[in-house]
Amino acid sequence: MSTKAFRKEDIQGKTVIETSGKVGGKVKDVTFSLDGAITLIVIKEDGTEHPVPLKQVVGISDHVIVRGEPMMGGASIPTAIGTPVCKFCGSELSPTSTWCPKCGKAQT
Ligand SMILES: [Zn+2]
Repeated sequence: MSTKAFRKEDIQGKTVIETSGKVGGKVKDVTFSLDGAITLIVIKEDGTEHPVPLKQVVGISDHVIVRGEPMMGGASIPTAIGTPVCKFCGSELSPTSTWCPKCGKAQT
């Protein structure tokens, strides 16, 4: 991973492109919380704001490249609330689970 430090001004206004090649919108702002979570606020073509966690960002150059399809359908991030599911096999986990009882893989 790069150790380059980015300023808010470096990424503000940049086009957000998903790894699938779809244009997701433009970076409007950057927020952070006291627990260290950094979130990009992306404004979509229809004018709605969509939070993209920094951990979904895989690269920043002329564009901001994000993993997955966080902008699809305008829905909020499905794993933010509700029943957690295994990242590997998709079976439901209890909220406190750190590993999957079905396939045995750690949920890091
Ligand atoms: Zn599993």
